[in-house]
Amino acid sequence: MSRSAHPAGPRHADVLPEGHYLAPPADLNALDAKVWAQTVTRDESGVLTVGGIDVKRLAEEFGTPAYILDETDFRARARAWRTAFGSDADVFYAGKAFLSRAVVRWLNEEGLNLDVCSGGELTTALSAGMPAERIAFHGNNKSAEEIERAVRAGVGRIVLDSFLEIVRVAHIAQSLGKRQRVQIRVTVGVEAHTHEFIATAHEDQKFGIPLADGQAAEAVRRALQLDGLELTGIHSHIGSQIFDMSGFEVAAHRVVGLLKDIRDEHGVELPEIDLGGGLGIAYTSDDDPREPHEIAKALSEIVTRECEAAKLRTPRISVEPGRAVVGPTAFTLYEVGTVKPLDGLRTYVSVDGGMSDNIRTALYDAEYSVVLASRTSDAGPMLSRVVGKHCESGDIVVRDAFLPADLAPGDLIAVPATGAYCRSMASNYNHVLRPPVVAVKDGEARVIVRRETEEDLLRLDVG
Ligand SMILES: *Cc1c(COP(=O)(O)O)cnc(C)c1O
Repeated sequence: MSRSAHPAGPRHADVLPEGHYLAPPADLNALDAKVWAQTVTRDESGVLTVGGIDVKRLAEEFGTPAYILDETDFRARARAWRTAFGSDADVFYAGKAFLSRAVVRWLNEEGLNLDVCSGGELTTALSAGMPAERIAFHGNNKSAEEIERAVRAGVGRIVLDSFLEIVRVAHIAQSLGKRQRVQIRVTVGVEAHTHEFIATAHEDQKFGIPLADGQAAEAVRRALQLDGLELTGIHSHIGSQIFDMSGFEVAAHRVVGLLKDIRDEHGVELPEIDLGGGLGIAYTSDDDPREPHEIAKALSEIVTRECEAAKLRTPRISVEPGRAVVGPTAFTLYEVGTVKPLDGLRTYVSVDGGMSDNIRTALYDAEYSVVLASRTSDAGPMLSRVVGKHCESGDIVVRDAFLPADLAPGDLIAVPATGAYCRSMASNYNHVLRPPVVAVKDGEARVIVRRETEEDLLRLDVG
């Protein structure tokens, strides 16, 4: 699937795939508002600025590469989700997209809840003051120790992922003298991607309990019998970077079908339904994501309609956007190190980071865009591939983009929409140091996650 995984290195002559969206933009210096955080612009001298601070100053003060996060934009997006769903629904930010204590505080202040899926994420959330009852604990293999910590802390919900876990959580809660609120994660046979979805009866994946063959119904039966558990709802998460809402429609139809079966069998109407996350953002000018209020309206109409048809009270909805909150809020600032034209093919632009700070291009064939950030240019377009400094030919940050032909070492370039799944998936490959996250707001910049140092590396390496 991944074009970059060929062991002999990248293929030749795939200059641009046929029908590719990419054509040289009319203006290489323009900033498409769709892919940039809201306070990003160019100042009079043409330098990219965010929150009133220009990137040359940011590079001088904090070094490169760096993730530059627009706090104003983050708060605005979080608020938009919160407002769109109103008081009848809950928004859980998926912490795996990017989690830090500053982010937890912003979420708390903006009224969002938080999904965690490991002890590390739980600790981060609690240490920054997120009330435990607003935390949901996810994952397909939570350890007994993690479950115990979550139950003791009093998390608002644990999302059960397997038959084993139903028993495990019940046992731990009971031994602590508690009754833990839980949801059961089901797989509904819907696999959703950007512009299409596949609906089948079965789903072949590690998460959740299949609706198929009455398995989810059996899980509900067991959970309802256990004293340590209070089953409050059903959870479904169908994919990521989704633009087309019809996958949610099929998922909601199937989940509501289960709620109806539960009512018919047990006389219980479960009060909650969680439709997961996965809502898409614009990585390039080609992407057209929907606004939170449109998504909220669509989802609530779908659930209401399905429940009316099933003669069920409409349950309280929750959603779990990660990427759609934090993704567009940050860009990665790199310094150009080398520029290598390959005649008839493209120009390789090497930056001071790479797959260690953005693995998504190598891992998922993700598409990104890029601009020259430290100045504007009148030069013509140069078909470029932005690559990192790692010892791996698949180390690509932006597969295909146009940059000005006069691009030179020392220039700063910026890759937008790197707020989600970049720092959180960063590695130390080649012992490259993970970049800092710098939050900018109203003319002030501060580090919220500091740059890794060589001392950090040596501290873990105990000889
Ligand atoms: C990953 C994940 C999310 C968030 O997905 P995004 O694509 O970032 O919105 C939400 N819920 C669950 C259960 C997930 O695994």
